[in-house]
Amino acid sequence: MIAILKHGTTAQQAEPLIAWLRNMNLDVHISEGQEVTILGLIGDTSRVDAELLSSLEIVESVKRVSEPFKQANRKFHPQDTIIEVGNAKIGGGHFAMIAGPCSVESEEQIIEVATAVKAAGADILRGGAFKPRTSPYAFQGMKGEGIRLLLKAKEVTGLPIVTEIMNIRALELFADVDIIQVGARNMQNFDLLQELGKTEKPILLKRGLANTLQELLMSAEYIMSEGNENVILCERGIRTFETYTRNTLDLSAVSVLHDLSHLPVIVDPSHATGKAKLVPPMALAATAAGADGIMVEVHNNPACALCDGAQSLTPAQFAELNAKVGKLREAMV
Ligand code: PEP
Ligand code: MN
Repeated sequence: MIAILKHGTTAQQAEPLIAWLRNMNLDVHISEGQEVTILGLIGDTSRVDAELLSSLEIVESVKRVSEPFKQANRKFHPQDTIIEVGNAKIGGGHFAMIAGPCSVESEEQIIEVATAVKAAGADILRGGAFKPRTSPYAFQGMKGEGIRLLLKAKEVTGLPIVTEIMNIRALELFADVDIIQVGARNMQNFDLLQELGKTEKPILLKRGLANTLQELLMSAEYIMSEGNENVILCERGIRTFETYTRNTLDLSAVSVLHDLSHLPVIVDPSHATGKAKLVPPMALAATAAGADGIMVEVHNNPACALCDGAQSLTPAQFAELNAKVGKLREAMV
């Protein structure tokens, strides 16, 4: 349920109402916009008399929110959320290009890729240290050592870093990581989401392989309901009957999520397509669709990559793509 307060209502005037609602065991989420203040009520609102509430002097209107996601809901928070890390901003008209290898493989590799993507204009460096692999015999990532190398690349380039967490036991290692990624396979690892909700780190939450957009938003809600509102949503393709591409990129997700939620939405065309030649056109399409950022895999030697070489761009291909994305965004203004 939301209560929209009349224009000009002061915090002092709203205070007794908020106290009364909290007294009914409701969580009151206050969203102060330029025009109006919205009180988002979370909990058992069945006992709230909507007519009584709307008859109050300071209340403009009252609406029941039918969607099960509340804090992620745009009705609760009409302005776009903007996530800020280092010099990068994502959301609310700010766009971030995230680039880097699927996995950190060595110091030489990550420094070389980081330096190249920085020179090409990337805003954030990605790189997997803990890798969720289908086969237990495949390269599992450099783990703690991988994070150490990413931090070194951050020091060298000044780029903020994003890397995936698979198990909450590793959280300590992420202390200096700028954005923690929850991968597609963990989108519904609710214990992990709740623990990350107790941190203040921005969380990059990827859509599960076979999950609906509502399920993605409910997973964001798991993080937000614990207090962490810094969530970035990521469309990375879903599993369909199509086999030519690794997954099927659902670009309508960008518009749907922007409609339903105030959270920033980025697109990962690398995991969505699985093929390097499809990455630039889908990155451009995602930009045109209004994504708040793009995340692409870049490797200094894709043929020798320990993971996802087939979908990795070379630094030169990335530089070309980033320049095109920049031009497209200029044309979109
Ligand atoms: C990744 O970004 O490294 C990754 C494993 O992606 P996803 O979780 O989308 O498969
Ligand atoms: Mn990958």
